[in-house]
Amino acid sequence: MDLEERLRPAVFPLLNWFHDNARELPWRSDPTPYKVWVSEIMLQQTRVAAVLGYFARFMEALPTVEALANVEEDELLKLWQGLGYYNRARNLQKAARQIVQDRGGVFPDNYGELLTLAGVGEYIAGAIASIAFGEAVPAVDGNVLRVVTRLTGDAGDITKPETKARIRSALAAVMPQALAGTFNQALMELGALVCLPNGGPECGRCPWQGLCAACRDGKTAVLPVKSPKKQRKVEGRTVYLIFREGKVVLRRRPDSGLLRGLWEFPNVPDSREDALNEWGLADAATLDGPGARHIFTHIEWHMQSVQVFPTGDALPEGWVWADRAALAERYPIPNAFDGFRRCVEGQLRQTEPRKAWEP
Ligand code: SF4
Repeated sequence: MDLEERLRPAVFPLLNWFHDNARELPWRSDPTPYKVWVSEIMLQQTRVAAVLGYFARFMEALPTVEALANVEEDELLKLWQGLGYYNRARNLQKAARQIVQDRGGVFPDNYGELLTLAGVGEYIAGAIASIAFGEAVPAVDGNVLRVVTRLTGDAGDITKPETKARIRSALAAVMPQALAGTFNQALMELGALVCLPNGGPECGRCPWQGLCAACRDGKTAVLPVKSPKKQRKVEGRTVYLIFREGKVVLRRRPDSGLLRGLWEFPNVPDSREDALNEWGLADAATLDGPGARHIFTHIEWHMQSVQVFPTGDALPEGWVWADRAALAERYPIPNAFDGFRRCVEGQLRQTEPRKAWEP
């Protein structure tokens, strides 16, 4: 039996299940192309529950594609702070400018044209085209690959483009033409709520229980097949939390490479021991601070901090002194420094004058 034949009987049980179980989500109740697009970009690598607050804040600040095209980059990145993968936000703005400047503000309304927008690949284009415009195209991401390979018992490696292409074409053949957006959302919802990753599917609650090859053959722990990722490089870093008179030092990262253009506490690879000297802070008092780890896609930072208390306020060019309000509202600081940011906020709060009614 080929893939299409194995998928076909699963279509209507899935649609019925989705009808009864779909979560109410702000981009579902009002699926404008702009809302579907922003939500799908936010949902890459991030769970729905975590995205809800960011989505509401983003839509309030930037309710239209024009507002997104015109916002200052720092303000945009500040709205994105905490979601990570900041290139997603930059590409959103790049695409918004394509729409406003090249297309007179008219959102592309089909799969082929959506693919020409910055940061929009096959999955996002499929999601917008089907959900916002009703075009019958699949939207295949890791969740969809997982549920389909389990249902059909397909042992193809889902990291390989040929597996994805095969599944995409089978889905295109079986999807109901008039309900393409609903069908795609139903597949995503099943992957998010029932057919969970890492060997943890809840088959007892699944509309496909009687049809599913992985469930029948006891293969839910081995499907989907995924070739192992390369090991991440581990890098030790020293992070300097430099305090003076209720402020802390921030600097902007370079315009290219990891976390480009975002703000950070000055830091160096552990192999460098002369940093304070080089920055003109060799005479400052120092104290060991907390440590933290952060995992990126290809690299892992193991960080140790040093608190630094200089006697003067001279800094290398381009560095700034930020108070607690500026730290919270003005400078976009990547997740990698979250633990340090919280610790710094606590320190700065202690140095602020107490209000009369505070203990
Ligand atoms: Fe996933 Fe189990 Fe449903 Fe199969 S029956 S699709 S393994 S949840």
